[in-house]
Amino acid sequence: MPSIAIHPAVDSGFKATDASFAGGTLVCACASNPVKVRVKGDIAHNHACGCTKCWKPEGAAFSIVAVASSDNVEVVEHGEKLAVVDPAALIQRHACKECGVHMYGPVERDHPFNGLSFVHPERFEESGWAKPGFAAFVSSIIESGVDPSSMDGVRGRLQELGLAPYDCLNPPLMDYIATWTAKKNGVLAA
Ligand SMILES: [Zn+2]
Ligand SMILES: [Zn+2]
Repeated sequence: MPSIAIHPAVDSGFKATDASFAGGTLVCACASNPVKVRVKGDIAHNHACGCTKCWKPEGAAFSIVAVASSDNVEVVEHGEKLAVVDPAALIQRHACKECGVHMYGPVERDHPFNGLSFVHPERFEESGWAKPGFAAFVSSIIESGVDPSSMDGVRGRLQELGLAPYDCLNPPLMDYIATWTAKKNGVLAA
């Protein structure tokens, strides 16, 4: 059985994490006039994601996606090529209209992720960004057409790569969301 393609950034081992990575420039896949988005500071919560909404490179079952503070994300070149993929979605994914790469996705509504932007660190020109630490929405890859009978193999491969598989987000992020909701509802002190 061929080894399952999770994502090119992890299939052949991670690039070492550089503790001094201080952000960089995300570049779309256009050969000319690419969209460029500057991210100040390191990214957080980098992970593999199996949902059907994230942008993925050709042939990958998962995306690699992380967050940055929206205040630290700025379109610096060719913003005119960007369009929001689904204006009704929580994450306002801004994609390049020519090559399709999602460049950044801010969360602007009242939600625990408000103020954060989702980015795909593989699009950084620079290397050294924090490596992915877990896999989210693993069962969702079935919705993209992956045979359900291969899921044991997929989860096994993710474990092998050090990406603990979860079918929603990982426990720290699920706890973060639930804490926000409990405070909002007055169940926990704000
Ligand atoms: Zn492009
Ligand atoms: Zn996703």
